[in-house]
Amino acid sequence: MSTALLFRELPTARESLATVTAIGDDGVVVTDATLFYPHGGGQPGDRGAFITADGRTLAVNDTRKGEGGQVCHLLDPGHGLEVGQSVTQQLDWPRRWAHMRMHTALHLLSVVVPHGVTGGSIGADRGRLDFDLGDASFDKDELTERLNALIAADHPVTSEWISEAELDAHPELVKTMSVAPPRGAGEIRMVRIGDIDYQPCGGTHVASTAEIGPVRVASIKNRGARNRRITLVWGDDNAQGGEPS
Ligand SMILES: [Zn+2]
Repeated sequence: MSTALLFRELPTARESLATVTAIGDDGVVVTDATLFYPHGGGQPGDRGAFITADGRTLAVNDTRKGEGGQVCHLLDPGHGLEVGQSVTQQLDWPRRWAHMRMHTALHLLSVVVPHGVTGGSIGADRGRLDFDLGDASFDKDELTERLNALIAADHPVTSEWISEAELDAHPELVKTMSVAPPRGAGEIRMVRIGDIDYQPCGGTHVASTAEIGPVRVASIKNRGARNRRITLVWGDDNAQGGEPS
């Protein structure tokens, strides 16, 4: 049985009930539904805890994709959970909120640097994208200014589904050359930021760009003849960002 991906439609939910559907080796626990994002698309797997009905708190150290659409939560071995048991899932919310903000900021980076993306990584303190820039060059301070203008403009961030055939008819929508969009059920999840960005993405995002808060381009580094790595960090006094109401 596949796991219902609650983080897709409820990206700001921090706590939810779930039922254990499978127990794997090395502390793996699968549930019928989850708020925990499994590592993928450059975004780390969520951490947090499962709270049992008898009040035990079990740390979730990481979350990964499993077979057949299952989501595997990695607990400490010896957790004692059994199939059929109910648990309350609690996200490590400050970490996940930072990932959502940085993830959305990287979408904006792909707007101000309109070149093919060859790789990327998201963290709570920093994020980066690698671009196939060819001969193009960019200035750190100018990029920082343009990013913060897009953030302050408070563009709404929404998602929708299109068919795989529709995506195949518009290959220009895929900006990331290194990661194929998630396929399988015949549908592709598209993420839209106002009228400035529209691309396939399965990650979690903030609801509007102002929630990101100020960012700064920390470095632009050479990664081979054509590739440049652009790293973003939070701007001044923006470790927490604007919490959603
Ligand atoms: Zn995304």
